[in-house]
Amino acid sequence: MCKLCENTDFLVSALHNISKIDSDKNKLVESIVCDTNSLMCMHGKCVDCENIKLETVESQLDEVEWCEWQNKVETRKIKVGKREEIKEVKITVKEKVKGSISQLIEQTEMQLDRYRKHMFTIKKQFHYYKKKKESLGKNECLMQVDFSENYICKLSSEIHSMHFGASKKQLSLQTGVYFIGQNSKPFTFCTVSENLHHGPGGVWGHLRPILKKIRELHPEVTSLHVFSDGPTTQYKQKQNFYLLSTEPKKLGFNNTSWNFFASGHGKGIPDGVGGAVKRNADREVRFGSDISSAISFVDCMKKSQVDVILISNEAILNQQKKLEEIQLTPIPGTMGLHQIFVSADSPSDFYYRAISCFCRGSNVCEGHQLKHAVIIPKLTTFETVPDEVYFENSLFEMDVDAMEILPNDIPDDRILYPCIVKADGNCLPSSGSVFSHGHINATAELRVRILSELVL
Ligand SMILES: [Zn+2]
Ligand SMILES: [Zn+2]
Ligand SMILES: [Zn+2]
Repeated sequence: MCKLCENTDFLVSALHNISKIDSDKNKLVESIVCDTNSLMCMHGKCVDCENIKLETVESQLDEVEWCEWQNKVETRKIKVGKREEIKEVKITVKEKVKGSISQLIEQTEMQLDRYRKHMFTIKKQFHYYKKKKESLGKNECLMQVDFSENYICKLSSEIHSMHFGASKKQLSLQTGVYFIGQNSKPFTFCTVSENLHHGPGGVWGHLRPILKKIRELHPEVTSLHVFSDGPTTQYKQKQNFYLLSTEPKKLGFNNTSWNFFASGHGKGIPDGVGGAVKRNADREVRFGSDISSAISFVDCMKKSQVDVILISNEAILNQQKKLEEIQLTPIPGTMGLHQIFVSADSPSDFYYRAISCFCRGSNVCEGHQLKHAVIIPKLTTFETVPDEVYFENSLFEMDVDAMEILPNDIPDDRILYPCIVKADGNCLPSSGSVFSHGHINATAELRVRILSELVL
């Protein structure tokens, strides 16, 4: 389920019920932008369509109701051994929301602004995946991966009783598919571990034997293009990028990229593989097998079409250890990137962009220009990740926390560093002062000028 898509559906259908607008959110977007293939239009930066409003009619109703998925925090009692602990859990609940018609219209317009960016990413990433798959060269491998929901171990003797629950041993499964060259058949795989870590160490612990196998069976393959959903705890983050730049290279891949589907839209073959493998396992249990460990899970899958491989705890710990020793700088605007390449010459250099595309070099199409970032601080840390930065002639403290949230659409190709101004309620005039004077000493003056601009 994608919350953004569903919340858009709820608003659009509520508004559709009382007005003439289209009930299909994609058609609705088509009606308010010039071109759904244009990044400028879909990101709300096109002068011709950025201000087009929804066509709605007057309604007799004072109040309308619509649904919304909301994040809530709930406290729950959880058994830890014999004790009970109160824990906070994050849950998503469907709530009914009431509001006036103008509130509904306003909400829908705001939601459509978010949705059309999302719609653009969904469309473009699927398109790129399809095109890339169709045009794979002999030496190229395209792979799609995802973590499946953990499998809960079962013994055949207890299959009919209701013993299933949190105390049962779980297995972590990363599932996927890869294609090699043109007209390739799909090679499906599932790696299984008792180590339940799904962070980058887990990702690469699971991926390594698959990549090794690909190189052994197809030594001509030296390019790797991975596709996945974009959860920031697993795939879309600096530690995963770092391992992408080091691990495949050790196995002989010299050209690697990772592509992200729009968040929540990365299901597909890996999801199907996970479902099939789990159904297989459950059937074996019904026929009398016990699945009490990762080894017995793999044993049960001998006849499976899917390549099922055991991943040891050590394999994952080993990858995690590589991450402990290294200090990484986040890539600005990580959330908004959907394609990242490792530079062939330097593993700490990355090129990335908002939308996956084939264009490179001087032949770059709209919105697809590659940005550059270095994630591994060079020996002298201060050169690449400064604690302090100069702007004009003044020295400012670098805001390391804000690096993560730098928007990805800053119209500047240089590496920019956020700097700290006083957080005393004057941050806006302070920033203005930095821009206009190169220092924060004109903050009061800027505040007065803003006021006089507003009043006069
Ligand atoms: Zn969605
Ligand atoms: Zn437009
Ligand atoms: Zn392009």
